[in-house]
Amino acid sequence: MEAKIGTTRVILISGDITEQETDAIVNAANPGLMGGGGVDGAIHSKGGPDILKECRIIRQTLWPDGLPTGEAVATTGGRLKAKKVIHTVGPIWSGGNKGEPDLLAQAYRSSLTLALRMGLRTISFPSISTGAYAYPIEKASRVAIKTVIGFTERNAGIEEVRFVLHSYNDLQVYEKALAEYMI
Ligand code: ADP
Repeated sequence: MEAKIGTTRVILISGDITEQETDAIVNAANPGLMGGGGVDGAIHSKGGPDILKECRIIRQTLWPDGLPTGEAVATTGGRLKAKKVIHTVGPIWSGGNKGEPDLLAQAYRSSLTLALRMGLRTISFPSISTGAYAYPIEKASRVAIKTVIGFTERNAGIEEVRFVLHSYNDLQVYEKALAEYMI
């Protein structure tokens, strides 16, 4: 499924984010930036050790206490097809009254802002927070779609935003959110 927002294409596919050839792929990281399970583990294992090396430097220089929820940083893509990995931290779901929607929106916005600042024109996102962080995917998909489309309406320069959903079911949830948003 695809939508055109100004000069930006928003594309929804099912697949593996580590296989995407966009300028950047986004990692649903944790504050430690030292790798983990889920999409984080897949990115580090396929991208190789240079990504972790840069994450260590970022921890030492920029974020000694860890990357706060909603922030984003960039490293090399290492051996991945993508030039850069943008690491962001989504919120852990704890019922929905702890600012989770705002924090999730911030994670998407920070990633897009960083991509723009770095001159990156195409970017792939996973479904941030809906794995280990347990954010209900129907709710998360609506925040993700609204935030990305809102950002691209206000900021020119991103040519393509690709959501890469790890299952067909997740893709269908995001397609519903996009269809409802476009009405
Ligand atoms: P979080 O801690 O932010 O919840 P997870 O990595 O646990 O991050 O899960 C986020 C989403 O990423 C989940 O929907 C999961 O199915 C998905 N995912 C896991 N591996 C991949 C992959 N290789 N490509 C795309 N999405 C993936």
